[in-house]
Amino acid sequence: MNYFALIPAAGVGARMAVGYPKQYLPLLGRPMLRHTVEAFLRSPLIAHTYVVVSPEDGYVADVLPPDMAGVTVLRCGGATRMESIRNGLRLLAPMVGADDRVLVHDAARPGLTPALVGKLVAEAGTEPAGGLLALPVVDTVKSTRGGGVTTTPRDGLWLAQTPQMFPYALLRRALEEAPDPDAITDDASAVELLGLSPRLVEGHPRNLKVTLPADIRIAEMYLSMESTQ
Ligand code: C5P
Repeated sequence: MNYFALIPAAGVGARMAVGYPKQYLPLLGRPMLRHTVEAFLRSPLIAHTYVVVSPEDGYVADVLPPDMAGVTVLRCGGATRMESIRNGLRLLAPMVGADDRVLVHDAARPGLTPALVGKLVAEAGTEPAGGLLALPVVDTVKSTRGGGVTTTPRDGLWLAQTPQMFPYALLRRALEEAPDPDAITDDASAVELLGLSPRLVEGHPRNLKVTLPADIRIAEMYLSMESTQ
């Protein structure tokens, strides 16, 4: 069984408002996407890394040169994250077997480390339903659904991170059959709709998703720290 990384990086990062896609924001002087890809290139478990960008992306060749070993850029990004991943999975068909595992990881999570990749593979690498990194909720959760304010017990609640890892054939089927692509905000939810329960593996706060301008300094702080996780 081989493990492949698939990184959707075809978003525009509207909430970051920097005038170019956020995956190219410099963090400690290097583009975010480069940090993200390096986590997989430095992991001995990953056979190859594929990065999905939009067909008109004008930045990627400077960040991931065509002759770079271990990584291939696919210019097949779609209108949504899910579409980008679905298009990437279709192109992977000649290279990846049905039981090979695909680790889908957002370009916007540059704090991933080879150790976290290794933990996910060690704890869920052979699970038929796959698995994902996630963090137990530590805060009390409030809901304003329905008008008033209610409290949801945090017990048993998790925040999903990526990578999310599944057998190739299962992930393709789950994303092709998802009834409402807009309602699918992560890959695990598409697999759950098939009646399966992917395994949750505890991740780390350094694997945060860089979404708002304030996240940049936090990401840089983690990136400058020796990674023991
Ligand atoms: O915008 P958000 O942070 O939720 O995006 C998550 C990931 O999905 C990012 O890595 C982004 O580049 C990617 N994406 C994509 N294609 C889209 C939208 C988002 O590959 N159409």
